[in-house]
Amino acid sequence: MATKNLSERDQKHLWHPLTQHKLHSKMLAITKAKGAVLWDENGKEYVDGIASWYTSMYGHCNPYITGKVTEQMQTLDQVVFSGFTHEPAVQLSEALIEILPKNQQKLFFSDNGSTATEIGLKMALQYHFNKGEKRNTLVAFEEGFHGDTFGAMSVSGLSVYNGPFEEFFIQVARIPVPDGSNDQEVYEQLESLIEKENIAGFIYEPLVQGAAAMKMHHAKGLCRLLRLCSEHDVITIADEVMTGFGKTGSYFASDHMLNKPDVICMSKALTAGLVPMAITSCTQKVYDAFYSDDIAKGLFHGHTYTANPLACSAALAGIELLRSKEIQDNITRIIRSHQAFDEQIKHHKKVASTRQCGIIYALDLNVKMDRYGNLRDRLFDHFMKHGVFLRPLGNTIYILAPYIITDQQLRHIYDAIEAALELV
Ligand SMILES: *Cc1c(COP(=O)(O)O)cnc(C)c1O
Repeated sequence: MATKNLSERDQKHLWHPLTQHKLHSKMLAITKAKGAVLWDENGKEYVDGIASWYTSMYGHCNPYITGKVTEQMQTLDQVVFSGFTHEPAVQLSEALIEILPKNQQKLFFSDNGSTATEIGLKMALQYHFNKGEKRNTLVAFEEGFHGDTFGAMSVSGLSVYNGPFEEFFIQVARIPVPDGSNDQEVYEQLESLIEKENIAGFIYEPLVQGAAAMKMHHAKGLCRLLRLCSEHDVITIADEVMTGFGKTGSYFASDHMLNKPDVICMSKALTAGLVPMAITSCTQKVYDAFYSDDIAKGLFHGHTYTANPLACSAALAGIELLRSKEIQDNITRIIRSHQAFDEQIKHHKKVASTRQCGIIYALDLNVKMDRYGNLRDRLFDHFMKHGVFLRPLGNTIYILAPYIITDQQLRHIYDAIEAALELV
């Protein structure tokens, strides 16, 4: 036994997410993480260019965050949140409301991004149910991704994930994202859906569709759609699980628009990459539709670890850091650094197009490839060999690094990308 390494022991009992084990049997064992760096079991270093799926934005094992959580651990670890409350949850609610768009008033806790959107969908559907209106269809963007539970899958548009389950989905109508050239058409499409169908809500990833390979759209077109929805009491649900907490250059992507959503879904960077948690926030209007003498009008949804005190204290510490001058300066620095890299690379003959929103940078290669194809694997291996953890999606290479990444580490990522262009 002692001679087997972690990767070998892993294969006996573990089933990994988003993995076809027959094709990809070997997992890389990571033993340590600090700041923007991961170490594998052989001691090799990797710059975490995607902040471990957009979570560890203030750096891995950030001492401020681990310190706060360790402190909390000594006094209150876990308690039921139905009928009880506690300091970390109350403090977090006060801190989060301060940075959310002003119309957000109430917070509902859960455990992950999928449950956050699931709850957003339930809020939209039950909102109309409670008002005695029959509205049973949701609108979503094409190529959206909102998670892997049933409601979230239903509104997601990526068939690789959803294929086997499609016949069990809730009712969804899809519209393209307004990309600047089609804004009026998309607007009219939504208008006619609202006229003809019973639309309960509209769920969307604001400005950047993460799983669709960081596909970006403009605030203007989306802002008009939000106004149209609000004129017809269609509940708007911003899935900010990926975009939230500074990634687009402001606290939330919704800050870039004049019209605000009724509901906002948060997870990933919410807890600074330490422990899982999610929050679905909503307006007073949504909350009031559930507030009643009738018990059945309540939102009867709850997870065992709801508002876990440790997760709340991690989130609270994360928000403090996000608001600090140091992190805000880092965000500005990364935005400028990406812009300079873009100038240098965008005319390369292997680069078809580039795009940036805040600290999120993406480039499309001038080659055709499958989302999970062979060339994609070769690219991934190339980056890992160069000590850079990036996860190309199809022919898109993107960077979403922790805010505390150094200029030198950024240079390392850029160099690895430039070398990759010679490979394809
Ligand atoms: C990751 C993600 C989800 C799902 O979150 P999980 O925590 O993986 O369930 C939902 N929506 C968006 C936009 C995401 O990026």
